Amino acid sequence: MPVATIFKFNQESRRLNTQDQARLTQLFERLSERTDQFLGYPVAKDFDYQHLVQFLDLPLNNIGDPFAPSTYQVDTREFEREVLEFSARLLRAEENSWWGYVTNGGSEGNLYGLYLARELFPKAMVYFSETTHYSVSKNLHLLGMRHIMIRAQESGEIDYADLRETLRLHRDQVPILFANIGTTMTEGKDDLVKIRQIFKEMAIGESYIHCDAALCGFMAPFLTPRPAFDFADGADSISISGHKFIGSPIPCGVVLARKRHVERIARSIAYIGNLDTTISGSRNGLTPLILWTAIRRLGDEGFRERVQQSLDLADYACARLCAVGVKAWRNPNALTVVFPSPSVEVRSRWQLASADGASHILTLPNVRREQIDQFVEDVAAEF
Ligand SMILES: *Cc1c(COP(=O)(O)O)cnc(C)c1O
Repeated sequence: MPVATIFKFNQESRRLNTQDQARLTQLFERLSERTDQFLGYPVAKDFDYQHLVQFLDLPLNNIGDPFAPSTYQVDTREFEREVLEFSARLLRAEENSWWGYVTNGGSEGNLYGLYLARELFPKAMVYFSETTHYSVSKNLHLLGMRHIMIRAQESGEIDYADLRETLRLHRDQVPILFANIGTTMTEGKDDLVKIRQIFKEMAIGESYIHCDAALCGFMAPFLTPRPAFDFADGADSISISGHKFIGSPIPCGVVLARKRHVERIARSIAYIGNLDTTISGSRNGLTPLILWTAIRRLGDEGFRERVQQSLDLADYACARLCAVGVKAWRNPNALTVVFPSPSVEVRSRWQLASADGASHILTLPNVRREQIDQFVEDVAAEF
């Protein structure tokens, strides 16, 4: 009998009692209902990873560096490396010149990117726009990094004139730019070509660019025109969420960085027989299988179609809202449709995030046209 089966057998006597079981059933029903009425967050829900349930019987742990051998062998690091290789190709990293790992989400990847930047340039100044994700302030605080907030344009993209002026005042410090490739509220994208042009104009020698591509990292490679955001465009590190555009029952993400940066800070730890290069020590072994499944099923062509379907739906949602008199808009090639905030009831019913009088819906792949129609009806009824 396989070990996992024996173990399960021993657990039989420790079943949940009926009351506890009933609570879980209730919770599941409520969550299923709330999942269906869900338009306000950039999270795909059209996934099916049932074939991975067997792995819940194993003490998976991808402890340490995905590329270094480890004494802990109940791991999925081989599959993790395939996920990273796929991501590196999409993000146009040069062969053998990148490193990365599967994270617990976009925020961890952003923390990692900033950590790497700080180790390389301890006295640098971090620049990021006012539309940057809330987690960045906390990360900068944790890392004790000096920073300056830059104005953003209406679209959410950084204000290049303000960036230029601010850089001019701090020419003695190495700039670390925290770039947004899809801001949380409007999906605005900073342009790495423009940023690097500014660096060049100002004769800045050393610099570091981290890209927060939480939602858009797995979309942008399939957009025309292709946004300037990846390694070929000059990024030093890039963080993407796995549970957003791809979709996952467990939050996860991917972070990639230039290998030469990482090599400068790697430390070897004898206890696990591995390198302590990741933020978490013990790491999730299930999420790499989830991302691997999605990547194997979709392939490049599947991703391309997924992006196109989502864009078509965003276009539809924006047009429908405008047709009933709502001043809705979206950035080019964005899945985020922005409009003046409706009533508290509508916001709560559809779980809409709101800030500064604006709300948004995101048309990730599983959103159906009927849901958009229903939503538009709700909004229109209030006019
Ligand atoms: C969602 C998001 C994050 C955080 O990612 P998590 O995966 O939730 O940790 C960071 N930046 C942006 C722009 C996001 O949209």
